Amino acid sequence: MAAAAQTVLPSVSGSRLLRRFVLWLLVLVCCLGLALLVWRWTENAAIDKLRLAGAQRLDSYAVSLENLLSKYDFLPGTLELNKDVIALLQQPDDELLRAEVNAHLEQLNKLSKSTTIYIVNLQGLTQASSNWREPDSFVGDNVAFRPYVRDALRRTPGGFYGVGTTRGEPGYFFAHGIYHNGRMLGVATVKVNIEKLEKGWVQGTDKVMLTDAHGVVFLSSVPDWKYHALAPLEPAVLQELEVSRQYFSHALLPLGLRELRQLDNGASIVATPAPAERTRMLSQTRSLSPRKWQFVYLSDLAPAEASARNAFLFTWLSEALLVMLVLYARQRRRLGRQRQRARLDLQRAYDHLETMVAERTASLQQMTHNLSEENVVRRHAEQKLRQAQSDLVQAGKMAVLGQMSAGITHELNQPLTALRTMSDNARVLIERGRLDEAKGNLATISQLIARMGALTGQLRQFARKADASLKPVPVAAAITAALFLVERRVEQERVNFRMSMQSQDVHALCDSNRLEQVLVNLFTNALDAMDGCETRQLTVSVTRSFQKAMIAVSDTGPGIPEAIRNHLFEPFFTTKPQGQGLGLGLAISEQIIREFGGMLLVESTTAGGARFIIELPIAEPETT
Ligand code: ADP
Repeated sequence: MAAAAQTVLPSVSGSRLLRRFVLWLLVLVCCLGLALLVWRWTENAAIDKLRLAGAQRLDSYAVSLENLLSKYDFLPGTLELNKDVIALLQQPDDELLRAEVNAHLEQLNKLSKSTTIYIVNLQGLTQASSNWREPDSFVGDNVAFRPYVRDALRRTPGGFYGVGTTRGEPGYFFAHGIYHNGRMLGVATVKVNIEKLEKGWVQGTDKVMLTDAHGVVFLSSVPDWKYHALAPLEPAVLQELEVSRQYFSHALLPLGLRELRQLDNGASIVATPAPAERTRMLSQTRSLSPRKWQFVYLSDLAPAEASARNAFLFTWLSEALLVMLVLYARQRRRLGRQRQRARLDLQRAYDHLETMVAERTASLQQMTHNLSEENVVRRHAEQKLRQAQSDLVQAGKMAVLGQMSAGITHELNQPLTALRTMSDNARVLIERGRLDEAKGNLATISQLIARMGALTGQLRQFARKADASLKPVPVAAAITAALFLVERRVEQERVNFRMSMQSQDVHALCDSNRLEQVLVNLFTNALDAMDGCETRQLTVSVTRSFQKAMIAVSDTGPGIPEAIRNHLFEPFFTTKPQGQGLGLGLAISEQIIREFGGMLLVESTTAGGARFIIELPIAEPETT
């Protein structure tokens, strides 16, 4: 299962990644598409604006050109009204008349601000001219080859733009037939300089050209473009232009304007010719129909392109900003959701914790309650135990006393028998007047009574229930007092008693009465064990080691077998025959010594007997 999950997980995240990638790609494509649309739209709008401005300019240039030309249109025709002109054409050899006509033409030329006015006869020979004074005067020139002359001679008033054949100066030529009584005598021609119009045309980055019917540029705001053809000229056209010498000696090479894109309404986007900087321009044309001329207006597209580019960048940046804002909003929403979830989790955890705390508090209260109940029970049990222990100690004492009762009885009977005998003897001695002997008897009686009193005193003290107070007890004195209670048996059973004291002054912190009880118990057990043994040696030694007083009670009995050693201190454990032992002695003794803060230990002697060692805390003797 785990392996399957491992193989599934990466594929799930992989498809999610792919989906995310495709989504982002889509967003990118849409943004790019929109930005491109904005680019195109802005460019188109800017081009429309340029087109409008260009059209207006073209209109105004056309109007000013027409205005200028129309000013001179009628001028050649008026010359047939001059009688001298008619007369000169009729008498071409009359030099006086020629001088008059020359002067008239000069005056007229000056007034009308035209370039030259001249009169040509039917053979195309110039009869008179306004520039008659100048060295390169037209007078005498034959201009029959000029199209405007030819047209006028054919009775069609001609208009013609061309470069002068004498000085090479361009100008517009108006020609009109001169009639007299319905007969053509010659042609009147007015040449007007229209190049001055160029000066009023734009000087900025926009460009203007005026082309003739063949597409030859003859006026332009760019001087270098003049006398170039918009498109390569046909050989026939070139030949015709050469014959008419319309553009004098100019080669009329193609301009090199390259059309890039055709727009509607005849406009197009073109690239300017080399070697000038190659820029994209909007090309618009306006025809001047009667003369078959055409204005070409080129608007610089750089500002339009720049604004389109800026719009593209602005859109792109706005989209990026929008996407970033959307991402930011999404991130904020996600963070908000996460925070909300965390808050809910925290609240849940807090609620859970509160419940847990409440439950734990309740269970603790229950436990405390149970503990206090258990405490009461335990205290009660301890009290009972202490009572039982106390009772046991007392019972042990009573048992010892019971065991010793035969000896005690004997101990008391002997002095009592002696007392009876001696008191009887004393009465007899008094009756016989042997008072000194009687006194001796009475003194012995007193000693016997004192001994009996001491014995009963010891027994009373032994049987008394102990109090719990611990004080420094001279160990030697306790041993002597205990020995006193078993002295009779020691003597009777011919037991060799030896006491070895390292120091007479050893004191232990305990209760003397109960220590004596323990010692009596140990002595009795030793005597019991040695009963029937050949060697009967009871040894008590007292040593002091660090802060401990050690009392060792050794016998030469059979010792304690390994099997029963662990049970020695158990209550009611005894190996003695029924009625002789209760099995309480060692259990009580161990308990008493433990209450003193000491220990009761057992070991085997080298001779094979038993040795019981009492370890007690050492105490400094009381100074009272
Ligand atoms: P009791 O003397 O009533 O039997 P104790 O508790 O005093 O009870 O002794 C338990 C047993 O320990 C004895 O029955 C005896 O078997 C054994 N015992 C005690 N002291 C000695 C000893 N000095 N030598 C051998 N056995 C001993």
